[in-house]
Amino acid sequence: MLTTVTAGPHTVRGISVGGIYTSLAVPELGVVFDAGASPRSSGGIDTILLSHGHADHIGALPALLGIRGLTGKTRPPRVVMPAEIEDDLTSVLATLSRLQRFPLEIEPIGLRPGDEFALRGDLRVRAVRTFHPVPSLAYLLIRRVAKLRPELQGLTGPQIAARRRAGEDVTVYEDRLELAYATDTLISVFDHAPELLQAGTLIMECTFLDDRKSLAAARAGCHIHLDAVVERAEQFTSPNVVMMHFSQLYRPDEIAGILDARLPPELRARIVPFVPAGTSWPG
Ligand SMILES: [Zn+2]
Ligand SMILES: [Zn+2]
Repeated sequence: MLTTVTAGPHTVRGISVGGIYTSLAVPELGVVFDAGASPRSSGGIDTILLSHGHADHIGALPALLGIRGLTGKTRPPRVVMPAEIEDDLTSVLATLSRLQRFPLEIEPIGLRPGDEFALRGDLRVRAVRTFHPVPSLAYLLIRRVAKLRPELQGLTGPQIAARRRAGEDVTVYEDRLELAYATDTLISVFDHAPELLQAGTLIMECTFLDDRKSLAAARAGCHIHLDAVVERAEQFTSPNVVMMHFSQLYRPDEIAGILDARLPPELRARIVPFVPAGTSWPG
């Protein structure tokens, strides 16, 4: 039932159909984006990042928390979300905990656009404003990498070791934009936050693909249409672009062909459609 794709160094595993359910795990980074479905294999992941409160993105959070209980995890997961929905989400979970006679605990982390939060030593998440009718965020995962100071490049290993022993600081730290996740938004998210386009892997919605839904109708619903991607194809410079949140208007087995026909080949070669094999969507 799950789809797994590889995008550069990242595995993206989960399920996504626009308006139905979206939940994607990236195990290398220890995160799950959205909880519109509750894959068993995501139950052990400690950080859940919620884009917004629509049911196709949070509806299976209680089930995901329940599965987590079965994995033997004792600490509640961190759940990163737009700050505006933190009170509502925690009160929903309190009600469900009473219903179940079982605590559905989370560590809520409410963020506002521009806020950053450390996920682990070398990895942090930055919240980015998206454009949807409810409070919503995109997420940019930034990794801090240690590099040799540029003026020391060309020295041998023993020479560098000697300088380090002498107390010299031989490293500089650099931020690498590792992965971005942007869904349920207008395409203008990339004008306001062009750094999303510089991520090594960009996971983005592309809900509508052709004239079965007009560009205007897609915009009115605050979703991205492939027409808008085609218009600004040269902006998509990420080496790996995972497209997901496709509408069920399209069969999974026709999506690659639509992308082939409509996108410049150079961009198409970097796009990984997140679709299951076969002619029908799961469920
Ligand atoms: Zn959605
Ligand atoms: Zn939505």
